[in-house]
Amino acid sequence: MKCPNCNEEHEWWEMEIGFEVPDPYLKLSKEERSARCQINPDICVIDGDRFFVRGVLQIPIRETERSFGWGVWAELSPECYRQYLKLEQIPEPPQEQIACQLASEVPSYSDSLGLKLNLWVLGGTQRPLFYVQDVEHAMGKDQQQGVSEIRVLTWLQPYLHADQ
Ligand SMILES: [Zn+2]
Repeated sequence: MKCPNCNEEHEWWEMEIGFEVPDPYLKLSKEERSARCQINPDICVIDGDRFFVRGVLQIPIRETERSFGWGVWAELSPECYRQYLKLEQIPEPPQEQIACQLASEVPSYSDSLGLKLNLWVLGGTQRPLFYVQDVEHAMGKDQQQGVSEIRVLTWLQPYLHADQ
């Protein structure tokens, strides 16, 4: 499909919209971040008791074999975080779902912050996958039913033409 904006074929299926840090981290000042947070590209801990993990929330694209990935963060309870760390050590982890909550406000969906998710550890170097628990929420519905290619192109517009 040609881009409605520039009429080019973008290789958008290679793209993912990623959030570098979880939203609660974003709200802290520079000083608070260095004093209270430990962070790397996959994990963030605030005050030693709030745990965040980065993963991918995939939305299938209708009439294709592809999915679009939102690279978002989720907050895990201390207990769930321990379970995550345990599973993450296993090369082929058992398929156990870990409950968590979306910690990134995804711009295309209202009320997405705090959405209940299940996290699935894939093992190896792959980031975990997130599944929206509430299939009545717009994001859960899209994850179940898929979205059109044009919708994904709409999400990507700010990134596709960032250098213009
Ligand atoms: Zn374009």
